[in-house]
Amino acid sequence: MNTTQSTVFNDFLQWTRDNEWGYNGHFETRLSDGTQLTVWDSGVLVVEPAKTTDKDIVISCAVHGNETAPIEICRDIIQDIIAEKQPVIHRTLFLIANPASINVGRRFVEENMNRLFSGAHSEGGISNPERERAAKLEQYVKRFYQQVEGTNRRRYHYDLHTAIRDSKREKFAVYPFTHGKPYKKDQLLFLLACGVDTVLLNKAATTTFSYFSVNEFGADAFTVELGKVRPFGENNRDSFAAAERSLRQLIAQPEPQLPNFDPQQHFIFAEAQTINRMNQDFELNFADDVANFTAFEKGDLLATDGGEPIYAQHDAEHIIFPNAKVALGQRALLTVVRVPTDSLELV
Ligand SMILES: [Zn+2]
Repeated sequence: MNTTQSTVFNDFLQWTRDNEWGYNGHFETRLSDGTQLTVWDSGVLVVEPAKTTDKDIVISCAVHGNETAPIEICRDIIQDIIAEKQPVIHRTLFLIANPASINVGRRFVEENMNRLFSGAHSEGGISNPERERAAKLEQYVKRFYQQVEGTNRRRYHYDLHTAIRDSKREKFAVYPFTHGKPYKKDQLLFLLACGVDTVLLNKAATTTFSYFSVNEFGADAFTVELGKVRPFGENNRDSFAAAERSLRQLIAQPEPQLPNFDPQQHFIFAEAQTINRMNQDFELNFADDVANFTAFEKGDLLATDGGEPIYAQHDAEHIIFPNAKVALGQRALLTVVRVPTDSLELV
């Protein structure tokens, strides 16, 4: 390795943070077992084993820069791969999505990146570095999935997050809209192995990173919320251990070791209401620190928007991701209701 290359591979996260809006150049190295490591940009690392399987795996973090636990997990897995301590048998793409937002210790710099995918980065006549980065990330995912020939390739994308607020259900995943395709037991089981027993089913297209991979590449893709936001070094890594272990197994083993499917172990919720903030004068009718998955009863006032009341429409309607301060037109609150796992179309 020359000097620059060793800077890249010695501490991939640090080099990424030092090149926060991207790096116009390419680095590669080969491990002793023939695994090829290629860096397409800052925060963009492709790992290609000498022998190709039928799986392509994308693991992304830092779509929101202050969500540090997933960044620490990816950092450690990446460095272990480089040090030849972590085997990888499937093609894997690691993405540290928004390094500039890591550097400022915030969710985003100018704009929430997880609303910028599926082309949303080019709408509205606005340009900013986050939009440019989102457009590039789309291209990297596309290149990664399409680089290997074959129609029967199995594609995965786990986009790792932590939530701003406490949650009554600590770990949960968003299952993006599948356009009517059945949900997959093996994916629910993999999420459970990651410690994620709660899954929200989106019922419409979104502009999230995970939906992009579902919709454009037929991937099994999820937004995975692994716990609560804390600063670097303050995460209780024990509470993320199951997720890290499962991700390490995912890339290292032909198939993850999964138990038999038991519907009782999965808590599935379907969208009830998506409440977008349409007026400056928007208020949530509960305290700022109310936990995700707090339940309201039918008729309870959830919010007022431009003076108009918005009520819970169901008993046990749970709130998620409340944020009264979002930009106009964006989602200020999602509500969900539990659905029996048995009622889903599962394959
Ligand atoms: Zn997030």
